[in-house]
Amino acid sequence: MVGSAIAFHLSRLGVPDVLLLERGEVAGRASGRSGALVRTHYPNLDEARIALAALPWFEEWPDRVGGDCGFRATGFLQMVDGRDHATLRHNTALLRDIGVTTRLVDHAEIGELEPALRLTGDELAAYEPRSGYADPVATTRGFARAAGRLGTQVAEGVAVTGLRTQGDRILGVHTDAGPVDAPTVVLANGNWSAALLSPLGIAPELTPIWAQVMFVARPAPLRPGPAGHLTIIDRANGCYLRPDGPDRTLLGLSAYRRPMAELDEERGPEEPGFAELVRRQASRRIPGLSDAPRVHGHGGPLDVTTDRRMLLGPAPGVAGLFLAVGMSGGGFKKAPAIGACLAELIVDGKATSAPIDPFRPTRFAEGQPLSGLEYSLPADGVDPDRRDLLGEQGLIH
Ligand SMILES: Cc1cc2nc3c(=O)[nH]c(=O)nc-3n(C[C@H](O)[C@H](O)[C@H](O)COP(=O)(O)OP(=O)(O)OC[C@H]3O[C@@H](n4cnc5c(N)ncnc54)[C@H](O)[C@@H]3O)c2cc1C
Repeated sequence: MVGSAIAFHLSRLGVPDVLLLERGEVAGRASGRSGALVRTHYPNLDEARIALAALPWFEEWPDRVGGDCGFRATGFLQMVDGRDHATLRHNTALLRDIGVTTRLVDHAEIGELEPALRLTGDELAAYEPRSGYADPVATTRGFARAAGRLGTQVAEGVAVTGLRTQGDRILGVHTDAGPVDAPTVVLANGNWSAALLSPLGIAPELTPIWAQVMFVARPAPLRPGPAGHLTIIDRANGCYLRPDGPDRTLLGLSAYRRPMAELDEERGPEEPGFAELVRRQASRRIPGLSDAPRVHGHGGPLDVTTDRRMLLGPAPGVAGLFLAVGMSGGGFKKAPAIGACLAELIVDGKATSAPIDPFRPTRFAEGQPLSGLEYSLPADGVDPDRRDLLGEQGLIH
């Protein structure tokens, strides 16, 4: 998705000869398997600004990009328990200051917004009426198709095998179909970027982690329809859900992550234990989810950085080379703005859609990792063997 979005925006800004190289098929990896939640609640304002800049692209997709990306503004709840009330109040106030449409709702109002939820009385949520979800495959391919209409050459089935440099400048890439000359190269290939960067002495410190989701037939009392119920991140139980089409619901876990032994390993549809755990956690809110028929499930790779925020901007020491990797589990919702920002940086020398300097790949070497006032891990529902993969707060999309 990130590469397709960058190609689209480069062509939109009039850059000639944009070439999108994809070794498989567009949307074949993380982006096609994304939970595709679209929301703006982040504890870090730099990230929130990117998500906020991306939202109009989803909302106005038919006019801005063309076609249908399946975006549904279901409304979104970022829901916490008493441990995190103060954090939620703090973050929500800051988000409102930067223009996010959000407000705090107490448990009574949560119950009015989503009557299917079982509540304890300890809940507080930030409600975002503009947020929801999109169709991850339609969105990703939609960007690639629109880029093609604007002049990008989309080459699927072509793998980049190396970066060509002379001195401290990029010259292009080697591919399995031959060399390509290019004065500007953007790497937007997640974890796989590390192998291409290492011969240049650049180590982006990406950790490959596997994440997955499950789709179930939607049980009552969740309402039917593509926007039949809210999109919810339930921090207390470490799970999230959203509608999927008219009669299914997508379920995921915030605190269940598996390391990837081999990056290209094709796993089965679901890891053992995932279905049981996600049902247990989600059914605490909606009891009917405990035995709702499973329709299917899938997973994909996450490229996680040390501070769990993306690397976006010029690669250190190689003029003409840019990075857009390390999406850390949240790249889907941000990709439209990431594409715009990077294209602006390349064309105009400065990103204007949102500030991206905080995401510069050199920030770790400069001792300036990104942070925010983060939420607690769920009380349970954390894979006990894998706490080390989660950081202090867990990873959630
Ligand atoms: C189960 C799951 C749920 C998620 N839920 C959400 C969510 O709700 N909201 C959200 O915002 N984000 C979510 N994410 C994260 C989000 O999907 C990713 O951050 C985003 O899709 C990353 O996009 P990308 O373009 O960087 O990676 P990818 O989609 O993986 O694209 C990288 C592409 O590079 C190609 N490639 C690799 N190496 C080469 C090479 N050498 N030459 C040519 N091509 C190459 C690959 O084939 C791949 O297609 C989720 C991810 C998963 C797996």
